[in-house]
Amino acid sequence: MGFLKSIGGVLAALLILTGCGNDAAEKDNGKLNVVATTGMIGDLVENIGGKHVEVTSLMGPGVDPHLYKATQGDVKTLDSADMIFYNGMHLEGKMTDIFEMMGKDKPTIAVTEDFKEEQLRKVSAKEHDPHVWFDVKLWIVAAESVKMELVANDPDHEAEFLHNYEEYVLQLKELDQYVQAEINKIPEDQRVLVTAHDAFGYYGESYGLDVRGLQGVNTLSEYGSKDVTDMRKYLVENKIKAIFIESSVPKKAIEAVIQGAGKQGHEVKIGGELFSDAMGEKGTEEGTYIGMVRHNTDTIVHALK
Ligand SMILES: [Zn+2]
Repeated sequence: MGFLKSIGGVLAALLILTGCGNDAAEKDNGKLNVVATTGMIGDLVENIGGKHVEVTSLMGPGVDPHLYKATQGDVKTLDSADMIFYNGMHLEGKMTDIFEMMGKDKPTIAVTEDFKEEQLRKVSAKEHDPHVWFDVKLWIVAAESVKMELVANDPDHEAEFLHNYEEYVLQLKELDQYVQAEINKIPEDQRVLVTAHDAFGYYGESYGLDVRGLQGVNTLSEYGSKDVTDMRKYLVENKIKAIFIESSVPKKAIEAVIQGAGKQGHEVKIGGELFSDAMGEKGTEEGTYIGMVRHNTDTIVHALK
């Protein structure tokens, strides 16, 4: 019985993987059917692809990409896509095998693949910080890769992709200037951003904030009591007034730090909620990349000014 069951499971998996060629044909509305991992990447592809792309983002609001495992439904969605865009640099650490498999029969592109070594933050000999979207200048580099890949796969619409790209880059440059001007309003000795995990390294480097995360650049390893103690000490010693929670990371770690500091007679408040590795709900300001960066910046400046 167990044997038959497992055969059944394998067959079902095969059907899912092979049976989807038809779906792609059924969906054929003349648009490129693109699947993106994070909402930020989906938003980027939508802005450049415009009406010639149909974009599905696998990871919705509140979803942590470091921990995300593809469901059977995701595999089906990926299998029926014309193109796949993902972040790379192990942001989607549990999906590496799937990207490799999908890459054998369709364009499967890391939006960070054209970044130069010197543009990246190294966190160890082999590991780079994947949270590149928070330096808007780097996101413009990602936009260029997306534009080139769309043109390569749908050359008939090259002119429109180029036009959309130019327009969107103008908006991104404006955003970049906005963030810098706002951060400059925080007194220099208060330019410290403390969050649940190290998602804001590029943001801090680009716009001039010291950044501290309770967890490292990924959320795979649980924070320990030593991390909480070290962070508490840091807050007390540096008289940090506000720290931030993240929409895609549980709050309890940050709350433990705040309690710890309180016991030492140092009051720290929650400065607000930041959108780090996932955007907000669709239809809200934070549900777009530009809105998310603005929201984070406004929240940080409001709490630290
Ligand atoms: Zn992260």
